[in-house]
Amino acid sequence: MTLQPRPGILDIRPYKPGAADAPGIADPVKLSSNENPLGCSDLARSAFEAATKNLNLYPDGGASQLRAAIGKANDLDPDRIVCGTGSDELLQLLGRAYLEPGDKVVQSQYGFLVYRLVAMQSGAELINAPETDFTASVDALLKAAGTDARIVFLANPNNPTGTYLSHDEIRRLRENLPDSTMLVVDEAYAEYVDEPDYATAFDLANEYDNVVVTRTFSKIHGLAGLRLGWAYADKSIIDVLNRVRGPFNVNLPAITAGIAAIQDFDFQKRSADHNRRGLAFMRQQLGGLGLDVTPSVGNFVLAHFSEQDGKTAGDADAFLTARGLIVRPVAPYGLPNSLRITIGLEADNHKVVDALTAFMSA
Ligand SMILES: *Cc1c(COP(=O)(O)O)cnc(C)c1O
Repeated sequence: MTLQPRPGILDIRPYKPGAADAPGIADPVKLSSNENPLGCSDLARSAFEAATKNLNLYPDGGASQLRAAIGKANDLDPDRIVCGTGSDELLQLLGRAYLEPGDKVVQSQYGFLVYRLVAMQSGAELINAPETDFTASVDALLKAAGTDARIVFLANPNNPTGTYLSHDEIRRLRENLPDSTMLVVDEAYAEYVDEPDYATAFDLANEYDNVVVTRTFSKIHGLAGLRLGWAYADKSIIDVLNRVRGPFNVNLPAITAGIAAIQDFDFQKRSADHNRRGLAFMRQQLGGLGLDVTPSVGNFVLAHFSEQDGKTAGDADAFLTARGLIVRPVAPYGLPNSLRITIGLEADNHKVVDALTAFMSA
């Protein structure tokens, strides 16, 4: 090869999305990517279809109407919002704008894999702060960050564990990090959480000029295929992200459908209600099979398997796949004995429980 990328790029293991196929099965149930089993808002779909009339036109590069709708729905200043091609893009842009080779980036031990990609793309050093009971520890994050971390990434709730930190704990984290450290709170699953001590970090992003909160349309809005997300932060950070993003990074149908989706509170509520029931069912049923299930507040559960031959997570995964049930092995997260299972339609949740019942008693 005559051309070489920057040092470190070839060390990156490309992100492997959740599987979508089960060999030999025509119509498998996909529970591997935390997608919304109810589909998406009908209003969003209609808006998307209407937008196809205008595909010859460039979108509004600033996504002004979408930012206004997001601001209205969340009681936020639209000038402190930037939209992206999924929240994934915004995480990448933060790395592009703020990280240099050798910089220190901190995440919790089982943090979302994209944070590692972002760090590695910039040649930054990623430090994992140990978790306790699959839950991020503010003390461990502070210790790992020390005085010189550039960015601390924290998903709240976290994927793949499903656990969360209380708002008090997030505040304690911010209060004790140096001013020179950016705190990114990834709230991809925030809309699902009912816990009384949980709250969004929007207020911290109002108080501090070094807090970024990211949100996505991929989960509660059921628009993962659209690729749409947004970030809320101090205007100084929004200004930076507007300089490094593509001028038309969010496409026209995504803007139109996003505006409809963010206002469809009925669909959001139905999604949250459906998830609440499914989550309780899965936790209870899988626990009843003797599996250790980490208490999740997201739209998925993390189930832990034994190391005994024939009963491992790999064996369970193969058993489920053979029955057309596709879940997510999480070995790349350092969890080789666990599977992440998205909450599906009621009938599909029952299929998973039935299959795992058979697997456990085989
Ligand atoms: C699903 C998910 C996202 C969403 O990513 P998009 O690029 O918006 O689809 C972000 N963070 C975490 C932790 C997730 O699990």
